[in-house]
Parts: sequence; structure tokens; C-alpha cells
Amino acid sequence: MKRGIAILGSTGSIGTQALEVIAAHPDHFSVEVLTAQSNADLLIAQSQVFNPNAVVIADVSQYQKVKDALDPLDIKVFAGVDALAQVVELDSIDVVLTALVGFAGLQPTIKAIEAKKQIALANKETLVVAGQLVTQLAQQNGVNLYPVDSEHSAIFQCLAGEWHNPIEKIILTASGGPFRGKKKEELTQITKAQALKHPNWSMGAKITIDSATLMNKGLEVIEAQWLFDLKPNQIETIVHPQSIIHSLVQFTDGSMKAQMGLPDMKLPIQYALGYPQRLPSDFPRFDFSQFPSLTFEKADTDTFRCLSLAYDAMHVGGTLPCVMNAANEIAVSLFLNDEIRFLEIAELVEEVMQHHSVIAQPQIEDYFETDSWARETALHKIRG
Ligand code: NDP
Ligand code: MG
Repeated sequence: MKRGIAILGSTGSIGTQALEVIAAHPDHFSVEVLTAQSNADLLIAQSQVFNPNAVVIADVSQYQKVKDALDPLDIKVFAGVDALAQVVELDSIDVVLTALVGFAGLQPTIKAIEAKKQIALANKETLVVAGQLVTQLAQQNGVNLYPVDSEHSAIFQCLAGEWHNPIEKIILTASGGPFRGKKKEELTQITKAQALKHPNWSMGAKITIDSATLMNKGLEVIEAQWLFDLKPNQIETIVHPQSIIHSLVQFTDGSMKAQMGLPDMKLPIQYALGYPQRLPSDFPRFDFSQFPSLTFEKADTDTFRCLSLAYDAMHVGGTLPCVMNAANEIAVSLFLNDEIRFLEIAELVEEVMQHHSVIAQPQIEDYFETDSWARETALHKIRG
């Protein structure tokens, strides 16, 4: 039986790599749904190759173009944000890969869980914003959340066969990003181009900037809290510049398990889509002679404030992680738009967090209101 896959965000870094995985395993997977924000040309080209049941283009101004191109192929075409949340309910879908960026992933992920689709989760922001609600909903609907993020896939792989053994702690590895070892004084004049150059991974713009500020690791700490049902003090991070060890679990007997391999997102994507099977692959193999030393160092949270802000948000909980995420999304887009400097990303996120009155037990509407409030507050602080 083939698994029917919906890829939300098929035109992005994760989305295109997922399609490579699917193309290599035509007997295991069929593409049911593809979606994009505005990249109509790539969405059309992907649809011509993979022949999905339906596609969604979120930007409605691109609808006619996509519709005209795909009508002769009998592919249903929808547009707009609501269509994104509806299309995940299609009967032919078994697994929804959430590969869109940011808070926009929350609503379609909730809808997919309510439709009892298994989730391959790349969109970490969904768990950062509303991890408690989303994991509870998944449990109620008998839905598994298969991690795609490489660190969380590593932990998930280490936990195979260990489901009844308590975790003492987990250690998420971080590459340290392009500015590892630099101090604040050296980061005042950082350009967009420098920040967009990640040493080990080629990814979308937002997560690449998050990796440079270490906010990505902060988001991942909160993502791990919900995926693996951990207390904040059970989650540690360590900088490991080679990105070969993807993360570690320590059990209550002191034993540690790690998962290793060359940095290649296709591996965790394939593991999430194919679970529990390990499908064959021709991805390049790790060679010890090319990596004579694997090194580790503590993260510099004085310079890279975002990581400690994320720990603060996790400890307080409620709506604070949602505020942090929204302020960060705005800060990153302002940085990419040359409106703020690199170090101001953390400053802006911290300021918005300080101005928020936390709701301890939020309902779904609270997250949407809080997200809007934090975005407006962040924008107002910069643009007035
Ligand atoms: P990209 O920016 O490369 O791709 C994002 C995709 O989502 C594109 O298809 C884009 O469409 C679509 N999209 C963006 N915004 C919206 C929106 N508001 N509504 C609907 N669709 C939207 O991102 P990545 O692939 O790098 O990242 C995707 C997610 O996976 C993120 O949450 C990231 O943190 C996570 N992740 C990514 C990793 C990576 O290696 N890239 C590693 C681990 C996690 P369009 O092309 O038309 O703009
Ligand atoms: Mg990661």
C-alpha cells in the first residue's frame, strides 16, 4: 500500500527535498497535495511531474495562472489560506508533511490532526506556539507527530525500542551558525548576505537567520519539550560545529545514545515519511577519515541572546513562547528588509516579550490574538 502524502510548502527547501525522497521511492509514496505561498511556476512544474490530486496556492493573485496550467491535467486547484486548512482533509491523504514557515503552519496542522492524518512535522513554530494544545489534540485523535527536524529525528531514532525507559535528559546539538566564536562587538555590522551563509546546511531564509542568531536552537528546545514530553530542565544544548552528531539522549542509567550521519535533511524527511521502515538511500555516507575530530563547546548565550530568551519563554510557558515566535518572525523579516541590524533581532524579541501579560492556560483563540498582538507591537516599536 502506497502512502498518500500532502506537502504543505512543497516549493521550499524541505518541500523540494521531500519530493526528491518521494521520486526515489515511487512504490512507497504517492503525492496527493502540493501547496505554495506564491511560487506558481515551481508549483506548476512539480504538479506536472508528480500529478497530485489537488494543489493550493495561498496567494490568490496567482490562482488563474495555476488553474490554467493544471486544468488540462485534471488537477484540482484552490487558492487562499482557508483552502490550505481544508485540503488536508482529503480522503486519499495518509501523511501531511508540514513544510511551510512560521505561525502559518498552526491552523493547517490542527485541521490535519482533526482529520486524523499522521503528521510529518518540519514546521517547528507550530509546536513552539501551541505545543500543549497540538500534542493533546494529536493524542485525542490517535495521530503521531513524526519529527522532521534533524535533531528531533535523531532523538526519535535513539528512542526506538526505549519507549518504556525514562529519559534523564536530551542534548540537542547546534552547529553554532556562521558567527560562532564571535563576540557582540564583532556582530554590529553583520550583513544580510553574511547571515544567510550557513556553514553546514542549505535552508530557507527564515531558518537560516534563526540559525545565525541561535533562535533556531531555542525554537528546537521548545519543540523537543512537547514532542518528547520533557520538563524544561531535561533539555540541554551543545555546539558541535561539524553537524555529524545530530543529537543525544541520556537514560536514567547514565547511558547515552546518539544518532550520526552527514548533514542531509533528506534522511530525516525519509525516516518521517517511511516510519517505521528504513528505506534504502544513495545519500553520501559518512567517512571517519574526512572528520578526524568531532568537537563540542558550550553555546555563548551572552552573545547569542535568543537562545536564553527561548529558555525563559519555555520556563514561563502559556502564551510567552507564542509572543517570542511572533516577535522573532517580524524581527527576521525586518532584518531581511534592512530595517534593523543583526543584534537588534534579539533586542526586539526581548522587548516584546517584556511587554506581554502572559495567559497561563491559553485557548486556541488566545494564540491567534497573541500572535497578532506581538506582531503589531514589534512592528510599532521599529516603524512607530
Ligand atoms: P522555505 O522558506 O524554503 O519554504 C517555505 C515553504 O512554505 C514554501 O513552499 C513557501 O511557498 C511556503 N510558505 C511560506 N509562507 C507561507 C504562508 N504564509 N502560507 C502558506 N505557505 C507558505 O522554508 P524551509 O523549507 O527552510 O522551512 C520550512 C519549515 O521547516 C520551517 O518551519 C523550518 O523551521 C523547518 N525546518 C527546515 C529545515 C531546512 O533544512 N530547511 C530544517 C529543519 C526544520 P513559496 O515558495 O511560494 O514562498
Ligand atoms: Mg534542526
